[in-house]
Amino acid sequence: MRFRGENFPVRVYSDAMSQTIVDLPCASCGARNRVPDDRFGDVPVCGRCSAKLLPDHPVALDDASFGKYIARSGLPVLVDFWAEWCGPCKAMAPQFEAAAREHFGQVLFAKVDTEAAVQTAQQFGIQSIPTLVLFKGGAEVARQSGAMPAAKIAQWLGSIQPR
Ligand SMILES: [Zn+2]
Repeated sequence: MRFRGENFPVRVYSDAMSQTIVDLPCASCGARNRVPDDRFGDVPVCGRCSAKLLPDHPVALDDASFGKYIARSGLPVLVDFWAEWCGPCKAMAPQFEAAAREHFGQVLFAKVDTEAAVQTAQQFGIQSIPTLVLFKGGAEVARQSGAMPAAKIAQWLGSIQPR
């Protein structure tokens, strides 16, 4: 005789006590995904569109995706406001990429092309580029203008959010 329950998969979360569920927004479709922080290394993907939730490079946001992404993130989001014609922006791009890898799972890194996302750039009063703006819980908490090397970006982030 078999019990019906034996055919059902049983999931055991041995480390449930140390796990934190984090809201991760999808840059592609805007969906909010809930991911345990101990699964960040498993390349979590969006439940709706399968885009990577923690890509190893900054995600591109536009006027359509920006608001949702910022509002739905459980992690701080660092946004690089830049433009194609801006020399210092291009010089900083690889540094920003390096900083993104360094802060994997702690801070989400995003880029906004101010030429394309005119509305978002205006909304946040971006006067000069590059400008980095840090958002937490959907609100701006800090900003810094001017190109910075990766080490300086890390230092600046560290000064804002003690870990
Ligand atoms: Zn998605």
